[in-house]
Amino acid sequence: MNSEKASCSCGQLVLRYNDTITKTSICHCHACQKRTGSAFGVQVRLKKEKVLIEGNATKFDRPTDEGDHVHFYFCPSCGATVYWEIDDLPDSIIAPAGAFENHDLPSPTFSVYEDHMLSWVVLPSTITEHMD
Ligand SMILES: [Zn+2]
Ligand SMILES: [Zn+2]
Repeated sequence: MNSEKASCSCGQLVLRYNDTITKTSICHCHACQKRTGSAFGVQVRLKKEKVLIEGNATKFDRPTDEGDHVHFYFCPSCGATVYWEIDDLPDSIIAPAGAFENHDLPSPTFSVYEDHMLSWVVLPSTITEHMD
């Protein structure tokens, strides 16, 4: 069993995960582009019961295309998002791959919102599932 740590830019908001991260994915939607300020978001899905949060978070609720909500938790001091919850996935916590200290997380296998993918993006060969 592994243990992973993710944190915001200033280190005040910390997420600890008492398990091994097995799956990462890429999302090209405009909301992820806005949140990251980058071409796409890379995120990991965690089992909620293995997640421990330390520090203060501010919540931002964003409605999804499917009509439910994503609840983003970010540091009120530095603004970095450390995790989020999706109504549809009550047993999961999602976290941005870049917030983790471990720089050897698994290569993404899943790529979504490819209809919003920037024209110059080249996906890794490990992607086996594609969605528009
Ligand atoms: Zn912070
Ligand atoms: Zn997205």
